[in-house]
Amino acid sequence: MSDLRVRFAPSPTGYLHIGGARTALFNYLLAKKEQGTYLLRIEDTDVERSTQESVDAILDAMTWLGLSCDEGPFYQTERFDLYRQKVQLLLDEGKAYRCYCSAEELDAKRELASKEGRKPKYDGTCRKRSDQPDAPSVVRFELPDPAGEISFIDRIKGTITVRNEELDDLIIQRSDGTPTYNFVVVIDDAEMGMTLVIRGDDHLNNTPRQIHLYRALGYAVPEFAHVPMILGSDKKRLSKRHGATSVMAYQEQGFLPEAMINYLVRLGWSHGDEEIFSMEELIEKFTIDAVGRSAGVFNPEKLLWLNSHYIKSYDPAALAKLLLPFLAQKGIDPSAGPDLTAVVKGLQERSTTLVQMADGAAFYYADQPEFDEKTAAKFLLEENRTLFTELKSALESCEDYTEAQLEPVLKAVIEKLGLKFGKAAQPLRAALTGGAPSPGIYELLEVLGRQRVVVRIENALQLLK
Ligand code: GLU
Repeated sequence: MSDLRVRFAPSPTGYLHIGGARTALFNYLLAKKEQGTYLLRIEDTDVERSTQESVDAILDAMTWLGLSCDEGPFYQTERFDLYRQKVQLLLDEGKAYRCYCSAEELDAKRELASKEGRKPKYDGTCRKRSDQPDAPSVVRFELPDPAGEISFIDRIKGTITVRNEELDDLIIQRSDGTPTYNFVVVIDDAEMGMTLVIRGDDHLNNTPRQIHLYRALGYAVPEFAHVPMILGSDKKRLSKRHGATSVMAYQEQGFLPEAMINYLVRLGWSHGDEEIFSMEELIEKFTIDAVGRSAGVFNPEKLLWLNSHYIKSYDPAALAKLLLPFLAQKGIDPSAGPDLTAVVKGLQERSTTLVQMADGAAFYYADQPEFDEKTAAKFLLEENRTLFTELKSALESCEDYTEAQLEPVLKAVIEKLGLKFGKAAQPLRAALTGGAPSPGIYELLEVLGRQRVVVRIENALQLLK
């Protein structure tokens, strides 16, 4: 075990975003690689916006991606006593103060500041007041050393320096008594022993404020690594316009977690020009130093490409299990049909997603294939009657119905009728599939099984025009 302690700290105010999943992944990978500890903390202090549904969505996504935590999940709402103690500590030490300014007063101050061309920031009215008006109050942290500056080395962004005069007297406790994000994140990261904070660079502006709080509370300051955001193909911040931004939407669309992980890691991290990484390889190769400074661009085609790669190389039996819910969604019950693993084998080469694979499996499990118009017009013809009749009787009566033995059976019919191979195989394939894409004819015959094949040929014979 190393001393490295990292965390993923999502706010449960919606589904898990692609960017959040990537942050979780980077934390997870580094912890595994360095044999440190990765923990999950649900930042649910904003009780108005946090929902159990979002908590569940986050946990589901973590499970789906396989990013299990070593400690947690912790919930900030279970830690309010600790936060209250720390607010009191800062009040007692004169490092924080109650602020009674009303929303209207603050609005007026802000307006005045912008009129006078000043940065709208709290003017410190309540800093030195000693009365305790009978009015709702928030608690503000008094920014120390107004003339000084704060500087830290970000492991991705480099040195960041901010003048304290740019910063505000931060609200650490709202008027309803709940603590605010910047305050609790410091307490938790310190109390939970975080040595490195890896998070999205939308929090970069918060870090100087947080460092002040670490110092005021007497905590050691961890290291920071702020990961650049993810952009859409138009180089604008990734949003719904660019496609789904929820991780679980990709599960629903039939992506494999392996593809998603592989895709997410490459949004900001690279290892030479390699593209395909298993989890084991990532754990071996991941470093923060190889996380780029520029934003990753979301590319749905690449995600599809990775997904088809993983589908092709997946163990067919395991893939068959993953396919089950997608089949169920289409009302397909594979238990009454051909062996699903065999079906999956035939579909792996031509499926980009599990949704597509379930579509492709439909004809195997239908009572009869559904003929597309073109296929029906081309093959369900009277002129094929003899062919179908001969095929039916040959396949019905052949001794050994296996892929290897079917070839001579089919060839004998072809020879007998004096046809070219395609002239017999294409109508047969059409009768079996209705025109859906399918594997080679012998594999198809074997997977469907003798009985289904015979029934399908009989059905075709009924439909000849
Ligand atoms: N809870 C914050 C968010 O979801 C992240 C906090 C952090 O990583 O410091 O944006």
